[in-house]
Amino acid sequence: MTKNRFRLSLLSVTCGVMLLASCAGPDSEPLYKVNRLLMGTLVQITIVGTNPHAKAAAQAVIDEIQRVENLSSFHKPSALTRINEHAGRGPVRADPEILTLLEESIRLSRQMRGAFDPSLGPVSRLWNFSSGEPRLPPTSEIAQAMTKVKLNRIEIDAATGTVRLPEPGMALDLGGIAKGYALDRARQVMKRFGVNGALVNAGGDILTVGEKAPGHPWRVGVQDPRRGNAIVAVASVKDKIIVTSGDYERFFVKNGKRYHHILDPRTGYPTTGLRSVTIVATDGITADALATAVLVLGADEGLKLVESLQGIEALLVDSAGRVKLSSGAASIFELRL
Ligand code: AMP
Ligand code: MG
Repeated sequence: MTKNRFRLSLLSVTCGVMLLASCAGPDSEPLYKVNRLLMGTLVQITIVGTNPHAKAAAQAVIDEIQRVENLSSFHKPSALTRINEHAGRGPVRADPEILTLLEESIRLSRQMRGAFDPSLGPVSRLWNFSSGEPRLPPTSEIAQAMTKVKLNRIEIDAATGTVRLPEPGMALDLGGIAKGYALDRARQVMKRFGVNGALVNAGGDILTVGEKAPGHPWRVGVQDPRRGNAIVAVASVKDKIIVTSGDYERFFVKNGKRYHHILDPRTGYPTTGLRSVTIVATDGITADALATAVLVLGADEGLKLVESLQGIEALLVDSAGRVKLSSGAASIFELRL
């Protein structure tokens, strides 16, 4: 494992993102376009149509995503790290917004049979992917950290506005839904400014508002997990959030083995079986948690979970590079294999 190799993999993510943006529809000049580094990734905002406040709307989206980062970051000081620092001590007063986000993440974790688990912090801290300098932890450290993964022991007290992690070493990680939440918030901001056509691409997780042009939905490429500048499918969407979790996003290779940033809460090790999962939904946090969870559950169980949820479709790329679709996904994705 080397720092350089990790940097390279991050670079390939950035290229993938540019590719996604470049296949976003018919060639007309956007009304306003801006890129920023936020939440550890490149965020691209494109606004189309006619709106006198497009620039202000884009700036407000940037500010909002920054605010979500300040609330939920796992490795930079945030409202969440303050809670984690108090593990094993008393309750911590927290912003009502982070309390709600935590409650939602616990609800989603239960709905997804624990495959998405916001209490996985002790284990993700060991792998250290979110800092950009990951490492392969010794087995004994993983086993020890796994004893601190306890969703049911998170104490949220809405009446006093506090959170308590009762055991030292417990830690919350919202990395699996933070970008989905940021996109949910971005949609609210766009609505407030009356924007009716926009695309926000947060490192490959995408919010679409309205259409690219009248009668032309947004077209979003799904990256091939093994060929950075190729796509496996194009999704045509309107007012949807598209989130992808994949083993190619943050990874390192050691002794010929790939280790990536999505961890199986049953083992504490990176998931195996699927290379990527793309979810199309209306709700960002559900889409984001689900992309992570399906990668953990694998194709059969994962697709069952997707089918049990209303209005959500999925495209999976398995370990042989084959594409699998949920039952309604064929009307969204055009395959490019
Ligand atoms: P995503 O790219 O949305 O799949 O999120 C990946 C991030 O979520 C990782 O960097 C970890 O911080 C966190 N994470 C990894 N595995 C899980 C999991 N099984 N459940 C919840 N969060 C996870
Ligand atoms: Mg996720």
